[in-house]
Amino acid sequence: MQITENIHALKIPFPSTGSAGQTVERFVYVYFIYGKRICMIDSGVSSAFSTIVDYLNKTGRSPEEINLLIFTHSHPDHIGAGQLIKKVSNCQAVAHHAARSWIEDIDLQYRERPTGTFYSLVAGPVDIDRVLKDGDHIDLEDGQRLSIYHTPGHSQDLISLFHEQDGVLFAGDAIPVPGDRPIYEDVFALIQSIRKLKDLEGVNVLCSSWLDPVFGDKIRTEMDKSLDYIQQVHEVTRKINAEAPSLDPKELCSRILKTLNQPEVPNVITSIEAHIRLKDHADLMDI
Ligand SMILES: [Zn+2]
Repeated sequence: MQITENIHALKIPFPSTGSAGQTVERFVYVYFIYGKRICMIDSGVSSAFSTIVDYLNKTGRSPEEINLLIFTHSHPDHIGAGQLIKKVSNCQAVAHHAARSWIEDIDLQYRERPTGTFYSLVAGPVDIDRVLKDGDHIDLEDGQRLSIYHTPGHSQDLISLFHEQDGVLFAGDAIPVPGDRPIYEDVFALIQSIRKLKDLEGVNVLCSSWLDPVFGDKIRTEMDKSLDYIQQVHEVTRKINAEAPSLDPKELCSRILKTLNQPEVPNVITSIEAHIRLKDHADLMDI
């Protein structure tokens, strides 16, 4: 799907596994910036490779034209096809400096953040050619430029990118989707990051990983809804934790997800522990 003059979005469906072993359908977006060559933002899962090649061919381009692959962060659904893309295009791969170790050593990532489907989602490790930090810029061809913002919270290695020329903000997993599984590791950083993105001027399109592209006035509304959702998860967590303080983390998560009408999924324990660390704060928007 073409979003602006230069930018295309491609939705990648993939099966994920819930904590009870059931299959849960997920999706992740990858983005292309077309210029003389192609900059790609996130690679999707390993099985996405043929979908990516098909899309490029359908729009008159080819994977060999990719000269830059930017990972918003190191999670498997964002780096999975990276090795295949690098192999076919010999592109440069870049990511935040904190993402490097988990992208270059996927076994290390699996040991430190095990998820059931990890190895089926990731083709292999990818060498990072350049590391990024908050405030950096990437100059593409034809005068196109990306500004880098460090937006931790979902993960400590997450970056968002702003394409000023087209007014497009690529936010990766920085903005939790209301009503979806809450997955993050630092609630305070998460809120600060969303506020930072909300303050950006000139954003016409929000391109997230878990959400269809959002346009115009709806962007700030979407960010506000996300902040409300984080507060809602916080209130549910505080309430259940206060009623039954001796629950083990798994049971606590289970009750919280049930209250939120969410299926049981792995990795939510990390999010709930992050809320518990802030349990003395009733209103997260005040901190
Ligand atoms: Zn992620």
